[in-house]
Amino acid sequence: MTTSPRFWETKTLDEMSDAEWESLCDGCGRCCLHKLEDEDTRDIFYTDIACKLLDTEKCRCKHYSTRFDEVPDCLSVRPLTEEKLHWLPDSCAYAKLAKGEPLSDWHPLISGNPNSVNTAGIGIGGRCFSETDVPVAEWDQHLIVWAE
Ligand code: SF4
Ligand code: SF4
Repeated sequence: MTTSPRFWETKTLDEMSDAEWESLCDGCGRCCLHKLEDEDTRDIFYTDIACKLLDTEKCRCKHYSTRFDEVPDCLSVRPLTEEKLHWLPDSCAYAKLAKGEPLSDWHPLISGNPNSVNTAGIGIGGRCFSETDVPVAEWDQHLIVWAE
């Protein structure tokens, strides 16, 4: 992967290469969690229930290259529209940069440590359930406020 030093401070999201764009994803897995939306306020409420394709321990998509075929509502964040931004967590690097905010200290591009997203309590690996293991009728018991 080839990226320019601190490219995220000098390029817009649209100007980034594919490698630069991919490196911004910290692998937190929060975009793979099911969320509920209040129809009136559009407020988003997180659960700890993940998409069927997420490896809930490693926090990685098990079929990344075919994810859109297998999960039609998987969020394709590029290009990042206002509607997609609505569904991303505030901690997400794409959301931060889109809002003109700096990357967090725990972001691997800042810390130099791929695991810092977990030690900071942002990654959901090992802390979530697969949707295949939780009946839909019980999802409302899995609402959770994740630390930012
Ligand atoms: S929420 Fe953002 S940073 Fe986290 S895994 Fe999804 S795209 Fe990557
Ligand atoms: S298909 Fe993969 S990337 Fe998309 S939500 Fe599911 S686990 Fe996440």
